[in-house]
Amino acid sequence: MLEIKNLHVEVEGKKILNGLNLTVNPGEVAAIMGPNGSGKSTLSYVIAGKDDYDVTDGEILIDGENILDKDPEERAAAGIFLAFQYPVEIPGVATMTFLKASLNAQRRARGESDMSTPDFMRVVREAAAKLEVDPDMLKRPLNVGFSGGEKKRMEILQMALLSPRYGILDETDSGLDIDALRIVAGGVNALRAENRGFLVITHYQRLLDYIKPDVVHIMSRGQIVKTGSADLALELEKNGYRDYVADAA
Ligand code: ADP
Ligand code: MG
Ligand code: MG
Repeated sequence: MLEIKNLHVEVEGKKILNGLNLTVNPGEVAAIMGPNGSGKSTLSYVIAGKDDYDVTDGEILIDGENILDKDPEERAAAGIFLAFQYPVEIPGVATMTFLKASLNAQRRARGESDMSTPDFMRVVREAAAKLEVDPDMLKRPLNVGFSGGEKKRMEILQMALLSPRYGILDETDSGLDIDALRIVAGGVNALRAENRGFLVITHYQRLLDYIKPDVVHIMSRGQIVKTGSADLALELEKNGYRDYVADAA
């Protein structure tokens, strides 16, 4: 279970999260929706352990263990995966090489030895087949000249390889066309598992047409202000945030 209790976070002296409480159960897909500036990205960065964020109070627990004093690599080892809003291009590094390095970094942080190349090739081929990724793409430099949809496919493939306990997708849908949206949603749906939770952060409802969340949380001013079923997202699509957020249009 991922539990966030009374989380207070400041950036450069500015309060952004104000006593946020949130629980994501294993097997659950939780959507977080909320107006721009409500602190959604800050929440995902703080969970992943990005620095520059000052946690002034509260806890983030995985199965009862506080992860706040762990660095990002240790959190990844503990099973946190954050998908990036803007994928980086790495000219000169084959996607395959990048994926292998990221898997082995996670294994090292867990005190495990590197995966052998033959084992890695088998694992990556299986994951690529499951997610319908063309294996030829893995020879190309990471993200260089990839379409939006191809970048998303690679990110989902990376997530599959790292096999996280909790996958966090922060506005992965912004700027994506419908095909890319379907790829992301298809990947999440393929990776849904009893022992894995997802936090799908989105400003718009449309991603949730393809990923049916078990629970929808509305965030405003650094707090979760409303929790409901998937229907809540549909209601937001119709009425906006006005019923839940005092200052939203
Ligand atoms: P959301 O993802 O919901 O749009 P963010 O977490 O990106 O919200 O931002 C929440 C608030 O925190 C905004 O007012 C934003 O301007 C502010 N903020 C976020 N990051 C920083 C930063 N590095 N420095 C100063 N203010 C920041
Ligand atoms: Mg924003
Ligand atoms: Mg954001």
